[in-house]
Amino acid sequence: MIEDKNQQRTALEKLGEFGLIDHLTKNFEINQKSTIKSIGDDAAVLDFKSKQLVVTTDLLVEHVHFDLSYVPLKHLGYKAVMVNLSDVYAMNASATQITISIAVSNRFPLEALEELYAGIETAAKIYDIDVIGGDTTSSTTGLIISITAIGEIDAKDVIYRSGAKPNDLVVVSGDIGAAYMGLQVLEREKEVFKVNPKNQPDLDHYAYIIERQLKPEARRDIIELLKKLEVKPTSMIDISDGLSSEIMHICKQSEVGVAIYENKIPLDPQVISACEEFNIDSTTIALNGGEDYELLMTISQEDFPKIKGNPNLTVIGYITEKARGMNLITRDEQSVPIIAKGWNSLENQE
Ligand code: ADP
Ligand code: MG
Repeated sequence: MIEDKNQQRTALEKLGEFGLIDHLTKNFEINQKSTIKSIGDDAAVLDFKSKQLVVTTDLLVEHVHFDLSYVPLKHLGYKAVMVNLSDVYAMNASATQITISIAVSNRFPLEALEELYAGIETAAKIYDIDVIGGDTTSSTTGLIISITAIGEIDAKDVIYRSGAKPNDLVVVSGDIGAAYMGLQVLEREKEVFKVNPKNQPDLDHYAYIIERQLKPEARRDIIELLKKLEVKPTSMIDISDGLSSEIMHICKQSEVGVAIYENKIPLDPQVISACEEFNIDSTTIALNGGEDYELLMTISQEDFPKIKGNPNLTVIGYITEKARGMNLITRDEQSVPIIAKGWNSLENQE
């Protein structure tokens, strides 16, 4: 398990609210042209000229969305940013700014917040976004983080969930199910650690799935790839809750049905072996696991030659008339209705 490397513990009271904000935000650089005024006034000022704006918010609550016994704070900061950027990219937009609001109890020393902000700073650098503000307050128990992301886009380029048409192909980026299986491994090791704190687990052969859980990447590269390939998806959504609930959102909003082929769903070999080890069906995990932050999209059949053979994009099915419903075509060619469970309810399954 992750040890607390911070020997030093500076009480937050020592800095006061303003001292704390200054300390945490002093390293943030401003690189976006649209940022006119950043941290330091009553509000930030942005200028997007003729672009449309996309705005999205996520709230992360300790013990509900993350467990600090195995999530390093630096990774948490990074992931909190990714979760939001993923929503911006799912609109086909460029992410430009974020705000960060935190509620923190005095159980956390300054060094813990420094770690959190180091993760946020790394994400901001890599994804080229400006941190332009936030809010800081105290909490009586755990840590709460709320991030709002802002992005820009030309009106003609926006991709909604509602644009899928019968015969469009259903395409997914990367592979899915890994973040959920990474979480299963981490939860198991946490239980082992409780019984035997001296035990140092060997997690090497779970490296990929654990990384997918602790340090996901938002797929900005896929948005860029689609532009380069001159493919504009007809609909798009990011996979935060699992393939089945995301495809259901597209079908509902586009008023269409879908056929997904079980044998086309991209799974990493580590997901397959972890599923065997945990004795769970890998298709169930792909459909209902969560937090993969891949992009699920539909494209017109005409665009198929442009994506064909690209290792980042997998065709997993096609859109049908609404009346045909949402179906999974299993490996033995049975058609079974897809029901969206969402990944939280997986826990009550057995
Ligand atoms: P106000 O009293 O107007 O809410 P604050 O004192 O909370 O102002 O914030 C001062 C400045 O610092 C503002 O620009 C605000 O957006 C920014 N800020 C506050 N908390 C954070 C934080 N946790 N992360 C980043 N910026 C923050
Ligand atoms: Mg404030």
